[in-house]
Amino acid sequence: MNLNTPVQNTWCPGCSNFLILSSAKKVVADLVKEGWARQRDFVTVTGIGCHAKLYDYINTGGFYGLHGRAIPVANGILLGNPKLKVMVFAGDGDAYAEGVSHWLHAARMNPNYALFVHNNQIFALTTGQVTPTSEKGFPGKSTPRGNPLRPMNPVAMALEAGASFVAREYAFDARNLAATMKQAVKHKGFAFVDIIQPCITFHDTRDYVSGRTYRIKPMKLEQALKKAREWDYSRSPKARIPVGIFYRERRPTLEEAFGAKDWHAVHPKRRLNASLWSKLRV
Ligand code: SF4
Repeated sequence: MNLNTPVQNTWCPGCSNFLILSSAKKVVADLVKEGWARQRDFVTVTGIGCHAKLYDYINTGGFYGLHGRAIPVANGILLGNPKLKVMVFAGDGDAYAEGVSHWLHAARMNPNYALFVHNNQIFALTTGQVTPTSEKGFPGKSTPRGNPLRPMNPVAMALEAGASFVAREYAFDARNLAATMKQAVKHKGFAFVDIIQPCITFHDTRDYVSGRTYRIKPMKLEQALKKAREWDYSRSPKARIPVGIFYRERRPTLEEAFGAKDWHAVHPKRRLNASLWSKLRV
């Protein structure tokens, strides 16, 4: 199996995106080897940002989406073929700013795919503006006197919005990252993984994050919410950062909630008769 592509990689040398890419490849390779899916069943969907180049570097089917719109693209792919194994990659500016409504409604609706957010707490591709998870005081390009706003907490928000699988990982802990990504891909329903992904060029958080992380196991929702609030994405000197799977549950996916018959009925190929469909294709 060849998961590499001939595209030249343009990430900064040493960028933690490399670790997310290698973890994604490992997940696909493992699951193909285990017979869980075929390589051609995997679909990589991205938004726009440094993270999105991952689309170019992994040999699966895919769709390079618009900024903040990876999730509606994934919904469409799932609608067209619910058997595909969709992996959605987004950035923090991508998913938590422009795409915030898509992300929260995905958590509520529980479509059957995994969302991996490369959270570097900055707009990295555009060289350093604040995002919704940038810490207060961060002197980004758009806030040279320091970010006046406090960050949002995406893990707590995903739990509140109803995501059926919620995790946080640290990109530089590649072994655990790959293990959690694999569980997220195999999860039946919407799996959300916030990946702390230091941008070593414009927002290097390694000194702060390394040494503060500790591993957790899945827990009940109320406990998970409490655990999620232990770190508020600030640079508090006392903070510790829980990583791992906070919560998971099996509940009806979007497809199951609508009923498989109705789900397929909304597909235009099935709704329209063959001759009308052929006219619409011109
Ligand atoms: Fe990675 Fe930051 Fe470079 Fe983008 S700008 S490739 S996130 S180190």
